[in-house]
Amino acid sequence: MTIAPSEKAYVPFVSVDHMMKLVHHIGMEPMLRGLAEYIEADFRRWNLFDKTPRIASHSEEGVIELMPTSDGEVYGFKYVNGHPKNTKAGLQTVTAFGLLANVGNGYPVLLSEMTVLTALRTAATSAMVARHLAPKGSDTMAMIGAGAQSEFQSLAMKALVGLKSVRLYDIDAAATKKAARNLSGMGLEVVTCRSAEAAMEGAQIITTCTADKQYATILSDNMVGSGVHINAIGGDCPGKTELAPAILHRSSIFVEYPEQTRIEGEIQQLDADHPVTEFWRVLAGEVPGRTSAEQITLFDSVGFAIEDFSALRYIRDHIGGTDYYRDLDLLADPDDPRDLFGMVMRAAP
Ligand code: NAD
Repeated sequence: MTIAPSEKAYVPFVSVDHMMKLVHHIGMEPMLRGLAEYIEADFRRWNLFDKTPRIASHSEEGVIELMPTSDGEVYGFKYVNGHPKNTKAGLQTVTAFGLLANVGNGYPVLLSEMTVLTALRTAATSAMVARHLAPKGSDTMAMIGAGAQSEFQSLAMKALVGLKSVRLYDIDAAATKKAARNLSGMGLEVVTCRSAEAAMEGAQIITTCTADKQYATILSDNMVGSGVHINAIGGDCPGKTELAPAILHRSSIFVEYPEQTRIEGEIQQLDADHPVTEFWRVLAGEVPGRTSAEQITLFDSVGFAIEDFSALRYIRDHIGGTDYYRDLDLLADPDDPRDLFGMVMRAAP
């Protein structure tokens, strides 16, 4: 992607309202498929990118993170938080915004909300990975944790993997009910369940997407049979995991960027040299994905900067010719670049 330097010193800004309108303009499932295409394309050119574990600032209540990357032409970052107790105060667990910039001159070329976009990109990534690793013909998913991400996860699996049925469970029955209501009429059979075990009956894909800042055991070893794909989304911080370690020892583990996942993912529970596969290598044809019907594949997802970069690229490429952004006066633009002071003085009332 080449982003030409803007002639005017304005930066397109996509608000939450714009993002929601863009989703309806494009369509939820086409957008999830489009995002997955962009993410897959960027995973295929993995080695081009600058990569670093995200920069995290932890507190008792949660975490605030910066997630930067660059492909040499375009630079991007996301600001994102994770505060599991927020929902009790009527706030989101995860909120985010992000930016793309031109590496050539350092000028921002897009500023966007990323709370909605993170849910979309996380779901698109999960489904893109499941399409390569889940057992062939997977049509049923257990969705454990029915919070903000859950409907996006379910619809992405429908759009990309061909999911027909989703089995929902949340410790909070109101959340299960909310997700069931939101997913009704979306072309999926929706089954609400009273336990995680019940949700897993007949499921080939198991998604865990709960929020709790602790070593939780959402799945214990005896709950997981052979031949399933686990899409573990919720364990994404030091001290925050969802799976019993014994499951990890029985699974083939696929990760985004090991340097970050070893700090934040389920594999923080394992020895630092426990073998894991970087998922981009599967796409590149360097290593196999699923090799047998009995294998347990586990996507230990924590969310990586390249996925956000791809999502911002997708937005940048799809807002042209729409009303779903506005120009933001974010950059100082004095006539003489060295006369910043004069520009400020001339603005005197
Ligand atoms: P949310 O707070 O909206 O929903 C979490 C849900 O989990 C809640 O409804 C809660 O009742 C439920 N829950 C908690 N403990 C449970 C248990 N033991 N069994 C069943 N349900 C339980 O949060 P969200 O925005 O949906 O995010 C969920 C998690 O995913 C968070 O931890 C977040 O940090 C993580 N996340 C990961 C990625 C990624 O890329 N991997 C991206 C976004 C969010």
